[in-house]
Amino acid sequence: MMFFPGEKITTTTDLSQQDGDYLYTRLREGEGIGQLFVRASVGGTSAEEGMEIPLDAPDYDRQCERDFGRMVYRLLSAATGRAPKWGILTGIRPIKLFHQCVADGMTEEEIRRLFTQEMLLSPGKLDLAIQTQKNEQKVLSRSTRDSFSLYISIPFCPSRCHYCSFVSHSIDRAKKLMPEYVSRLVEELRYTAKLVDQIGIKLKTVYFGGGTPTTLTAEQLQLLIDVIKEEFDFSHLEEYTIEAGRPDTITLEKLQVIKNSDVTRISINPQTLNDQVLEAVGRRHTAKDVIDKFHMAREVGIDCINMDLIAGLPGDTLDSFRRSVDGLIALGPENITVHSLSVKRAADLAKVDPEFLRHGSLVSDMVDYSQRVLAQHDYHPYYLYRQKNTMDNLENVGYCRPGQEGLYNVYIMDETHSILAVGAGGVTKLREPGGSKIQRVFNFKFPYEYLSRFDQVIARKDEVTKFYETYPF
Ligand code: SF4
Repeated sequence: MMFFPGEKITTTTDLSQQDGDYLYTRLREGEGIGQLFVRASVGGTSAEEGMEIPLDAPDYDRQCERDFGRMVYRLLSAATGRAPKWGILTGIRPIKLFHQCVADGMTEEEIRRLFTQEMLLSPGKLDLAIQTQKNEQKVLSRSTRDSFSLYISIPFCPSRCHYCSFVSHSIDRAKKLMPEYVSRLVEELRYTAKLVDQIGIKLKTVYFGGGTPTTLTAEQLQLLIDVIKEEFDFSHLEEYTIEAGRPDTITLEKLQVIKNSDVTRISINPQTLNDQVLEAVGRRHTAKDVIDKFHMAREVGIDCINMDLIAGLPGDTLDSFRRSVDGLIALGPENITVHSLSVKRAADLAKVDPEFLRHGSLVSDMVDYSQRVLAQHDYHPYYLYRQKNTMDNLENVGYCRPGQEGLYNVYIMDETHSILAVGAGGVTKLREPGGSKIQRVFNFKFPYEYLSRFDQVIARKDEVTKFYETYPF
């Protein structure tokens, strides 16, 4: 997929099917050795590589996996001219590997050698990962064995963005569900708070996400904020975020509700400052709306704001993306998050500008530009994750001004401590204190299901208590 974006790839064990482009891999084991062999045939030209590993080599399976990876990478890179910058590193949480290396006592030099020589990372991605690991570590050390975060899901948006992969309902259709949805949320919050009291875990961060939580009215927002304050102990709370993603949902009244509460951080997400691109992806607002709402939030006194950008949106160009990055820097939010567009299905690629597919490096250039310029303006990477099917296999990075890290982002991505989720689409993720066991408890995905089967939502919450009985802190 990294080398042939958008193409349908099939696998077979039938060797007679070696026509067209193909990649053949084989492992033969016997007489104390494993023989690895790879052949790539692309555009009528074939190339191959092979090697042997003793069966009793330490970590034999992992060595085979990495050597296969490197051979495939070298052959396909030579055949296609593409050189994905994360090398053979797959998985959505690459920084975890860096934490592990540090915990194992490796020096920075050893880590650099491992990731460049064995994983084939580019120098730029290696620097990014090392810096992110260091910044993330400071946030991780603020979590304790009895910490947890609370996530409130508001799965409604004013309209659906074309690239969206979340379960989010356009408010036009779901408006009538909102009052009932809010009253069920209140019930679920009260029930969750009781469990938290019984277990004795301590609330570290609160996060309203979605969707777009500011699709709620000012009164609904106030109600939820009041209930959370009333029901949960805030004495260990360090961060309280409300995503106000879409400027078309932000009003002065809602910002005042937010400012007059314990909320410490909001997100206002332009995704791009190019109006044509905004229109092409189905966002019903302009770049000016974003800027106006940003200033409105500042005037109200909100002093920690995150802004998201996406590299690779249909119709965007390198110049226009640069202008978006520069425009955000000029506004000076405390956090800027740069995502790489994730294209979920091959069919979606049709909607992506063919320019990106012909020159995959364009998105890579956008991401490199943001990394370089944000560093020059004192924004540091503090969390990083990858999604499947991103353009050029790239990453999403949260940058912040020193000391302004979004804690929840790190905790959810690192799976540092339990996240108790309420609302439709919420997934409670229980993390064994001091251990590695993870258990998920799913709420129903769709609002109407959440409402009609609410008894089951509450019944499932008891998994939280059982988990902490099995894995006390
Ligand atoms: S605002 Fe976010 S959650 Fe809502 S439709 Fe757009 S991408 Fe999806």
